[in-house]
Amino acid sequence: MSFLDKLKYIYKQVSEVENTIYNGKQDYLEIYERNLQLEQEIKERTHELNIANKRMLTLQHIWDMMNASRPLQSVLETIVNNIQGELGYLHCNIIKKCEDEMGVYLCVLAQSNDNSIKQIDKLIKGSILTKRLEYSDDSIYAKSATEKTIMQTTEVGETLKSVIPEVSDDIIYIINNENACKSIITVPLYTHYGWFNVFSSRKEMTNGETDFLTIFAQQIEMAITIADLFEEVKAQAVTDGLTGLYNRRYFEEYLKKEVTRAMRQQQPFSIVGLDLDHLKQINDKYGHAYGDLAIKTVANVLKKNARSIDTAARMGGEEFNVILPGVDSNGAMIAAERIRKALESEQLDTIGHITASIGVATFLEHSDNIEDILELTDQAMYQSKRNGRNQVTLAKPINETSWQEIAVNTFMDILSKHNIPLNKDVTENLKNKLKTDEVPKEALYTVADMLTQTYNPLHHSGVMKSKVQLAVSLAKRFDLPKDDIDKLRIAMLLYDIGNLMLPADLLQKTTPLTEEERNHIKEHPLIAAREILKPISYIQDVIPIIEHHHENWDGTGYPSKIAKEEIPMTSQIILIVDAYFALTEPRTYRAELTPKQAIELIKQDAGKKWNSTLVEEFISLIDHDI
Ligand code: GH3
Ligand code: MG
Repeated sequence: MSFLDKLKYIYKQVSEVENTIYNGKQDYLEIYERNLQLEQEIKERTHELNIANKRMLTLQHIWDMMNASRPLQSVLETIVNNIQGELGYLHCNIIKKCEDEMGVYLCVLAQSNDNSIKQIDKLIKGSILTKRLEYSDDSIYAKSATEKTIMQTTEVGETLKSVIPEVSDDIIYIINNENACKSIITVPLYTHYGWFNVFSSRKEMTNGETDFLTIFAQQIEMAITIADLFEEVKAQAVTDGLTGLYNRRYFEEYLKKEVTRAMRQQQPFSIVGLDLDHLKQINDKYGHAYGDLAIKTVANVLKKNARSIDTAARMGGEEFNVILPGVDSNGAMIAAERIRKALESEQLDTIGHITASIGVATFLEHSDNIEDILELTDQAMYQSKRNGRNQVTLAKPINETSWQEIAVNTFMDILSKHNIPLNKDVTENLKNKLKTDEVPKEALYTVADMLTQTYNPLHHSGVMKSKVQLAVSLAKRFDLPKDDIDKLRIAMLLYDIGNLMLPADLLQKTTPLTEEERNHIKEHPLIAAREILKPISYIQDVIPIIEHHHENWDGTGYPSKIAKEEIPMTSQIILIVDAYFALTEPRTYRAELTPKQAIELIKQDAGKKWNSTLVEEFISLIDHDI
């Protein structure tokens, strides 16, 4: 479909949504008018009118939000909280039918934050929000979807059991007899195959209630449809809304083409990476609007100073990249310096002058691997920051004994020593990968993924690379020196290697573990990692990082129970990155969580398991991607 056709298609869908809104409004107005008549006829109905008024305000609020194109999640959360709070329900949620390789299940898209759900969470000793809920064809959900109708059930405990079968009869009894919730009303959402549910303190449902809940369900469907369309349009966009520069998506596409061209013609190209200095201070001191002005100023300087064949992009936040085709490192340094000077001489309203730190790297000159080039640009930019900001630094070529080489040698050593309980074919295959792969970094990730898969069959290939990249980005946020970052990369590849030494029968055990077994699973990998790595002389300074990657910020971790700054920063980074990936990967005993759910759980332990600042930086990193 051409872009124009796509736009036409989207326009058509928006019109349809508008029609639904119009019809919804008509329905709503009719009900409202009916209420007005009632008021005139019978005095007692004033009370009812009050409720209708609240409903109208709630609807109004929802419409306003939908116009403001807020991210879907927060729109849905506001809707459920409004309905619950304003209309006097005990709880309100939106659930969705999902499917993965393990089958069909239900998950909570959004739920109101109220005492009722807190009590239920307490009873089931978990959070419904993060649970994989059972879907069965004879549930109230399946029935209401098939019959396309709003339904009510007074069997509250049983309904809970239908989605969480492990709930005991005692809990069902408590919910049925000691809980204020007397019925659950469910409204099917047709277009997205989900349900909008309210927990009511009344056993009966009035006619007006049915009408209103149906209208709210329509609002939810519209919010989802509009958000989907918005995402679709956003995904097609190649420019950044604030600056008009190309966005990251376009940059990455274009870069691939440029690499192919440069390889074919054996001609270099350079990347100028720029990060605004002290934007946080500008935001804090003058407000976000002035922060935006600083970002726009950088964009304008880049536009003015780029040749027509250069491509400038905003990578996100306050980070920019320019691709200079055919330009070697000398030329790129001149261009970067020109950009730096031009920015420094801009006079901004209220803020005055702003500066940026710049890094430059050249494809074919510093490396012929584009990922290395991006990384080198970044390192050079951070070097500019460390040296005092407002300057340009040229990348240093990857040095001879890089971290990659150390890591390759370490894996070779480990695979050659015969105390690893691995089949010989597997070890040989992995060794060959390390020996023959042209890009050592890629081979390292593959080997680390494959080793993980030997003791965790649910581990996805490719995850190791994402983990290392995330850990490195986080380390850079804390300005860790290059040496520490290199050690962190090696530690990331090796920190769980001790799992290889756990007995298979223990790992595959399906019955609950004893306390002793749990401790064994907890502590043994660290001991094993130490044993495996001890004989390898050149990575001795990586071992303490691995050894402490289960220490908690508040001193409740293991094995040494050290706390706060005593824990190496690199170990703290491993702990948080490991936890995030563990939560977003499936396990035999639970489904994977969404990034948002994982972040919620991580947030709960800020100041306990991890340093709050670390959590903040981590979330701001992840937020770019979700
Ligand atoms: P440094 O010189 O070390 O780069 O300091 P900094 O303050 O620029 O960098 P830091 O990474 O500490 O903070 C970046 C800030 O940029 C935090 C974030 O809220 C802000 N920011 C990111 N995107 C935008 C945006 O689009 N508009 C505004 N106003 N601020 C943004
Ligand atoms: Mg900055």
